[in-house]
Amino acid sequence: MAGQFRSAYITHPDCLKHDMGAHHPEQPARLSAIEDQLIASSVGQHLERYEAPLASDEQLARVHPADYVRAIRDLAPGEGTVHLDPDTAMNPWSLRAALRAAGAGVLAVDLVMKGEAGTAFCAVRPPGHHACRARAMGFCIFNNVAIAARHALDAHGLERVAVIDFDVHHGNGTEDIFEGDARVLMASTFQHPFYPYSGTEDPAGNMVNVPLAAGAGSREFREAVREAWLPALERFRPQLLLFSAGFDAHVEDDMAMLRFTDADYGWVTEQLKPIAERYGEGRMVSLLEGGYALSALGRSAVQHIKVLAGLNA
Ligand SMILES: [Zn+2]
Repeated sequence: MAGQFRSAYITHPDCLKHDMGAHHPEQPARLSAIEDQLIASSVGQHLERYEAPLASDEQLARVHPADYVRAIRDLAPGEGTVHLDPDTAMNPWSLRAALRAAGAGVLAVDLVMKGEAGTAFCAVRPPGHHACRARAMGFCIFNNVAIAARHALDAHGLERVAVIDFDVHHGNGTEDIFEGDARVLMASTFQHPFYPYSGTEDPAGNMVNVPLAAGAGSREFREAVREAWLPALERFRPQLLLFSAGFDAHVEDDMAMLRFTDADYGWVTEQLKPIAERYGEGRMVSLLEGGYALSALGRSAVQHIKVLAGLNA
């Protein structure tokens, strides 16, 4: 099944050095948990590995004002830790990790647009979907998926890009950046009411937001995908699918109260693949967002990656 099909796995050792403290759930071990399951499942041997480059100022500027990027660079500590918000901190490695996380998405888009890979997964941290145009929050510094989307639109000339966000938290940063942008359709599910308490009040027409109540699981998620996401995506005809891939809606993840299973992450990827094939030559680029129960994170991410890599058949 894999044949000539190439799927990229993009990460960087700098992403392991960003550390917000011993008890912070957004921890370096998250990336090792995914690596472990890639080995255990043998899926890892089918992936082409790449090191994430640093995002350039030009790439960041498509999403974040220059003043904001400068402020982040100026705040980055030479030693110790500095807090950007109560949940989000920088150590001396965080700036490079954040630039790599954004750069991974840019490289992933370049690879799929040049046909050097069919799909790509970016195993990066810090995550990005809470980062607004000019505000870091919720463990996020730069909005990695938004930077990848704008790169696809502005550097590669695509006209329609979809962002799929199945993290348990609403991607308020991504919505802040793209609301009203007719070139982007964002489809998401998230627990509501829950942090960051957004996404339900009069969303823009290009936002397909499906709030789920605490306790909702596979059935409600799959219903949302079938009834809300797929029809909207069919109408939109995206030339590229980008995923904000957070795995914190998993039943074992106590960050929140949804009850998704490992299999849901493979299933949703399967559902979206035909859309990518019909309108975007199969191009799918996925970036890690949340997921804090390490075992569930590793297993769920591998279910998703397996479908991205065409290894499920
Ligand atoms: Zn999350």
